[in-house]
Amino acid sequence: MEKPLLDWYRKNKRLLPWRENKNPYEIWVSEIMCQQTRVEAVKPYFAKFLSALPTVKDLAQCPQERLLKLWEGLGYYNRVRNMQKAAQQIMELYQGELPADYEALKKLKGIGIYTAGAIASIAYGIAVPAVDGNVLRVISRVTEQQEDIAKPSVRRRIEQEIQKMIPKEYPGDYNQALMELGALVCVPNGQAKCGQCPLAGLCQANAHGTVDQLPVKSRAKPRRVEERTVLVIQDGERVAIRKRAPKGLLAGLYELPNTKQHLSSQEVLELVKNMGLVPLHIQSLGEAKHIFSHVEWHMVGYHIRIQQLEKTRQGNMIFTDSEEVQNKYAIPSAFDAFTGYLKGGDGAK
Ligand code: SF4
Repeated sequence: MEKPLLDWYRKNKRLLPWRENKNPYEIWVSEIMCQQTRVEAVKPYFAKFLSALPTVKDLAQCPQERLLKLWEGLGYYNRVRNMQKAAQQIMELYQGELPADYEALKKLKGIGIYTAGAIASIAYGIAVPAVDGNVLRVISRVTEQQEDIAKPSVRRRIEQEIQKMIPKEYPGDYNQALMELGALVCVPNGQAKCGQCPLAGLCQANAHGTVDQLPVKSRAKPRRVEERTVLVIQDGERVAIRKRAPKGLLAGLYELPNTKQHLSSQEVLELVKNMGLVPLHIQSLGEAKHIFSHVEWHMVGYHIRIQQLEKTRQGNMIFTDSEEVQNKYAIPSAFDAFTGYLKGGDGAK
């Protein structure tokens, strides 16, 4: 499997900024970003992050609000918080260089088996596997694995199989070739392009016509649905935002004021009055949905124009201008459907 796979990879791999050199820090950043977003979408975030924080030291020392702002739009903010903790560990223990040691990498905050394997093999040429969802799919089809790949024991077995196969000279290319094959050719949902696959001749699922049934994967629990009402509150120039609690979903980020359940415009006006504000005009902004890993927000939005405030704070709300919201405060993409209304100060999107 090694030769056809590596030949295919060298001809077909995508040109990605983090593949241009083998900088361990850049590989680490790209791996964490790619765990949550499509590779194409990651490129601009990667460029922005690296230009703001080009070294482990910069990441370790970055003020948290700025860090979260740099991560804005990528979601899973705990990942970047953990990256910063790991960067601080690297400064303390390894003088700012990611250790060229698989076991030591796994001990860093937020670096699991997969990420440690990717950094160790790609940046340092250490022959260890890096098994992500793409690799699990490819291997379970090639070997016609009938067990549930969501089980840790099955994943471990696949890692052990790759450990035996991985070439000592090219572990990074080998791992990336498996990932790339899963991303471009051995794709899910009945779309596998077996006719273009370098492994077609030895693939058991291809031989037995079971490609569409593999991998076997248990269904995740259904997500909880939460109804919310989101408020775009403006007093002329300024808009209201507030900081979320330090723990739980979207911890410590900024948000548009919102409340559980779908409220009518009358109920929203009452709510705004109870906040100590004087509403002048209300307009519905329609519905939106945001999906997190375990919960879905089904939202309705309202734009509320209020009487001019003297203060910049009211209760737990901060009143600030839309430019400052854009440049300074990290607002999660869950609110994307409504943050467009912050521009212009007149509720226009
Ligand atoms: S032959 Fe088809 S199922 Fe087998 S590895 Fe290639 S793309 Fe995947």
